[in-house]
Amino acid sequence: MSLGSRLRDHPHLLEHLYRLTDRVFRRLDPLIRRIGYERANRWLRGPEDWAKRIVFDCRMCGQCILHSTGMTCPMTCPKNLRNGPCGGVRANGHCEVKPEMRCVWVEAYERSLRMPIYGAEMLFINPPVNRQLEGTSAWINMLTGVDKEVPKGWVGAPRRAEIPLLDGPWPGR
Ligand code: SF4
Repeated sequence: MSLGSRLRDHPHLLEHLYRLTDRVFRRLDPLIRRIGYERANRWLRGPEDWAKRIVFDCRMCGQCILHSTGMTCPMTCPKNLRNGPCGGVRANGHCEVKPEMRCVWVEAYERSLRMPIYGAEMLFINPPVNRQLEGTSAWINMLTGVDKEVPKGWVGAPRRAEIPLLDGPWPGR
């Protein structure tokens, strides 16, 4: 078992790390703005790619939604689905395209149940991925807000308080 898969089996630890990183970046935002988002993106995307590839098998989509998908990268789904599994998941929970692999969304759901902070975000409806952001730093895109831009006419994702199903299994809410 790789280091990444071992770490991914500790989603609660990873969501804490995510929250910490999120806070650090938001604190540093004034400084990063002064440096320039473009320049910061050039500096950061290499280390971000390296670190997230080891832990999450990241594909650098530039629009990270790991905390809403059980700290499981949705771009590792062979169909790149961002909103849950396709209709082809096998009875044993494996992928339709790669039968030897567990469905990314089965793993995402199982891990989300062990995430009291962000687990319920599994119910969010994520916008389609913006391919123009590929290869850029998701952290910088979060600061600029470009990762929140959605196609014209797309109905926004419901927020936590608006989701009636939140009586579901997610603990700690
Ligand atoms: S959602 Fe995007 S940025 Fe986040 S780990 Fe997956 S490919 Fe990388």
